[in-house]
Amino acid sequence: MSIFVNEGEAHKRPNPQRVAILGASGSIGSQTLDVCRQHADRLDVVAITVYDSVSFAAKAAREFGCRHVVIANEARRNDPALADMPEQAEVTFGPEALEELVRSDDVDSVVSAVVGFAGIRAGYAALKAGKALMYANKESLVVGGDLLMPLVKPGQLIPVDSEHSAIYQCLVGEHRSDLYRIWLTCSGGPFYGMGREELSHVTAAMALKHPTWSMGSKITIDSATLMNKGLEVLEAHHLFEVPVDQVNVLVHPQSMVHSMVEFSDGVVKAQLGPSDMRIPIQYALSFPERWETPCERVDYRDVCDFSFGHADEEAFGCLRLAKEAGRTGGTMPCVMNAANEVANLAFRQGRCGFLDIEATVEAVMGVHDVAPVESLAQLEELDSKARDAARAYLEGIAS
Ligand code: NDP
Ligand code: MG
Repeated sequence: MSIFVNEGEAHKRPNPQRVAILGASGSIGSQTLDVCRQHADRLDVVAITVYDSVSFAAKAAREFGCRHVVIANEARRNDPALADMPEQAEVTFGPEALEELVRSDDVDSVVSAVVGFAGIRAGYAALKAGKALMYANKESLVVGGDLLMPLVKPGQLIPVDSEHSAIYQCLVGEHRSDLYRIWLTCSGGPFYGMGREELSHVTAAMALKHPTWSMGSKITIDSATLMNKGLEVLEAHHLFEVPVDQVNVLVHPQSMVHSMVEFSDGVVKAQLGPSDMRIPIQYALSFPERWETPCERVDYRDVCDFSFGHADEEAFGCLRLAKEAGRTGGTMPCVMNAANEVANLAFRQGRCGFLDIEATVEAVMGVHDVAPVESLAQLEELDSKARDAARAYLEGIAS
């Protein structure tokens, strides 16, 4: 099946939509709750999930009258904050509960805003169960796109990532065969313009000051290393069925153009708008409609500084490595992603330097024997082994 809405019957949405938000306590999750507050007549939040944030879940379940709450971390079964959970909410625990939830007859639409590869089983289960899927969880698409994308019916999976939402919006009404290439915009991150010597001294605190977006800590570091852009190239490759080298990264520090699509006749469509993640989140939920938003409007007459440029793959090796993993395909993106998740966390915790992130990814990719992607169990086993290899590499350079 295809993601393209004009290449098959579009997946239908009921009104109101009964929405489950996976990763409700995170940056995307909380902004999704904001969108649902704004459109309470159209969006009924029936379920939320968190990993550790039990108090957050109790508060949100009360506000939205949720019938289901999943705490993905089993170790929270005796959390004192569970006492604050409203009576109507059935609370379940663990990763299997997440999969069960997305299959529930009470749920029409699933917003997957879990961070990291951990979100893959729920995304897979949502697609299998025929639910509409608003997908922010890019790592699982990068790793398991070969398994997830064949399940997608036209209009069933709508990307939430701002660039991919932009590309999707440019593609509505177009045919896959007319797509020539994609221009994936990139703010450049907080260290744009720096060389290797300077990058070797940057800290997590410096990286956490992203110039445009306020996001969760993992993606903020990925934005600084440009691994986020690398993951997004692979995300676009899977979502839009284009070879990795037909997705060009375009540095655009103003973050006003959210991405562009170039067609066979040379025409380029771009999507512009305020830099507010609630817009792509809402589009994924409102599709194929558009709903009003309270976001600040841009007066384009005041926009005088608008620039495009190349990304520096020599200085920012994570972008180069992610693209390499995408070109290789098969299980290579799985180990690339696992090594990055481990090194990203180590950098956030002050256990390694900025450039050690790419060194770890390169080392783990370097010893991997690529195979075709066959199953979720295979990916989980490889993910776990690659994480061990990344930890061993980091321990080795620390001693
Ligand atoms: P956050 O770290 O802010 O939130 C992550 C959410 O996932 C939290 O609710 C967290 O729960 C939950 N979670 C963490 N680990 C697990 C696990 N193992 N199993 C189940 N749930 C878990 O992340 P973001 O919101 O920034 O990002 C979410 C996803 O969206 C990522 O894939 C990211 O790349 C993507 N994205 C984010 C953007 C942004 O602006 N933030 C933009 C585009 C894409 P708890 O709070 O309890 O730990
Ligand atoms: Mg993005």
